[in-house]
Amino acid sequence: MTIGNIHSLESFGTVDGPGIRFVVFMQGCPLRCLYCHNPDTWDPRAAAPYQLTARQLLDEVRRYRSFIRKGGVTLSGGEPLMQAEFVAEFAALCRAEGIHTAIDTSGAIATPAALHAVDLADLVLLDIKAADTDACRTLTGLGNDNALRLLRHCQDTGKPVWIRHVVVPGHTDSPDSLAALAALLDGFSVIERREVLPYHTMAVDKYRQLGIDYPLRGVPPLSPESARLADSILNGSRQ
Ligand code: SF4
Repeated sequence: MTIGNIHSLESFGTVDGPGIRFVVFMQGCPLRCLYCHNPDTWDPRAAAPYQLTARQLLDEVRRYRSFIRKGGVTLSGGEPLMQAEFVAEFAALCRAEGIHTAIDTSGAIATPAALHAVDLADLVLLDIKAADTDACRTLTGLGNDNALRLLRHCQDTGKPVWIRHVVVPGHTDSPDSLAALAALLDGFSVIERREVLPYHTMAVDKYRQLGIDYPLRGVPPLSPESARLADSILNGSRQ
């Protein structure tokens, strides 16, 4: 069995998918989003605190079975699909036990192994960074081709998707870029939700501790009013 390199575990997650969820933060991410609040998960070679087989992780999840009865498990990160084989093994085990699984991904990886892992999960939480591929590259270091490939795969296979979109003042909060994203998403009937994630500055200290320059120094958190406006544009055609 594959060994999962796992950064951390959260036994009572309430914001990463439906219901109360056990959240698994996988180590490693190929992107470098300007607003990332988990830079400690970036390095895929870093030996994370948990080195578990899929079955060992399932044993851990079982301890919380009664709490997550109406929720499930979310594989997040970092980028969980960097360890697609492990995610697929774990999702298959959960499926056999009737435990709901969600994969929280940027869509940066759309290899056959990653798409197979997606097939075995019940829900995809897709963090779309921008509709425009150049804007996406500026924000993350990579265009959005793979994210759109993954989204098309979900459409073709009928996999439910929740879109999450980080809205950053001066970067992704213009009405035009939000409207372009809304129009793009309109083409995918498998999308059940579109969530705005307001940019915040809580990771600044973490960057300082890691000795990494914080790229968005001086950018203020998104105001509640701007978050409401972004939400109304992103969901405009669905309200
Ligand atoms: S995809 Fe997520 S973990 Fe990776 S750099 Fe972006 S925000 Fe950070």
